[in-house]
Amino acid sequence: MSIPRTGSEGSQSTKPEIKIGGRTVVIAAGPCAVENRDTLLASARAVRAAGAVLLRGGAFKPRTSPYAFQGLGAEALELLAQAREATGLAVVTEVLDPRHVDLVARHADVLQIGARNMQNYALLAEVGRVDRPVLLKRGFSATVDELLMAAEHVMANGNSRVILCERGIRTFETKTRNTLDVAAVPVLKRETHLPVFVDPSHAAGRSHLVTPLALAAIAAGADGLLVEVHPSPATARSDGEQSLTPRAFAALVRQVAVVAAAVGRDIDVGRPEVRGDEGEPNEPDEAPVSPLIDLGDLDLQGLLDVLANVREDIETIDREIISLLARRVALGRRAGYVKRVAGVSVVDPIQEAAVLDRARALAEAAGLPYRDLATLLRGMIAITRRAQLNDASA
Ligand code: PEP
Ligand code: MN
Repeated sequence: MSIPRTGSEGSQSTKPEIKIGGRTVVIAAGPCAVENRDTLLASARAVRAAGAVLLRGGAFKPRTSPYAFQGLGAEALELLAQAREATGLAVVTEVLDPRHVDLVARHADVLQIGARNMQNYALLAEVGRVDRPVLLKRGFSATVDELLMAAEHVMANGNSRVILCERGIRTFETKTRNTLDVAAVPVLKRETHLPVFVDPSHAAGRSHLVTPLALAAIAAGADGLLVEVHPSPATARSDGEQSLTPRAFAALVRQVAVVAAAVGRDIDVGRPEVRGDEGEPNEPDEAPVSPLIDLGDLDLQGLLDVLANVREDIETIDREIISLLARRVALGRRAGYVKRVAGVSVVDPIQEAAVLDRARALAEAAGLPYRDLATLLRGMIAITRRAQLNDASA
């Protein structure tokens, strides 16, 4: 199954189509709901930079409570179309009502049927009549066979482009919002030829669980992921607790690329230069981090949730710094090897002084105190030198 890459920047990839269900894994990401133009565009740019090829975002939201935010409706469809135009991402959004199918199909590349509507046969018949792939989510309490029968309803009406989506089912467990049925992935892959996606966000319900579930999904054979990402999860209008920050999402994509490679798959990240499996950092376009954020009138639990999210970002950065340090040490060892072959001294005080000298300008540009940065750099130099000397005496 394939979806054309559209939009003015759609040519960012050399391939004109997004292929779904082949060797290549694809990722759809974005906010739970479309909230406003700025947040949607920021989300779209960030997820594209990190390696998503589809943008998700609810225009019509099926909320358990009728008093919760129901989505911006038709206005959100316009915003999604604008985000597609601006970023080249294909759009997947939910359709709730059979009367809205044509309207949603005019704006979206993929129509999502939510868990609450998996057995809404009138709706399934209606999306069966349009020329758009359908992302069909498994109902909370639906068996795999019931999911397959729901897909059959779409196909019997003429639309064979159905993507199945496991998003967690209701069990007695309360530590997660739903229980991700990982086994459903290989079961579905065996029983049908249809692509299988996994939504780790609605299964997890908590942002720190999303990445491990995503990795399990890919290891189990999923063809794609549907992930909730928001520039400011703490202030999201829906599902903030399970939404990843752009930075955490970029880290997810990098890890997914590693697991995909381990199971003989690769990953479509839109642009060849940000392929995660080549170890390149996929930096999302992020605004500078301001220490002061709008905390609105969050209660204590809300503030603790914000703190947990910030700490998660810090942890991600620490991991990135350490992996960069490991690369630096490896390059230092390579330099040491070249020096040994050339017969020159491995320890080079002039070179080390030059590193510290450069740090003065770097510290100034980054707004960091030179003295502390120099201490850090001396530590890095010491680690590298020890590794070089170890190699020399080996
Ligand atoms: C969603 O993906 O926005 C959503 C509402 O998910 P589900 O239908 O799986 O609850
Ligand atoms: Mn959601």
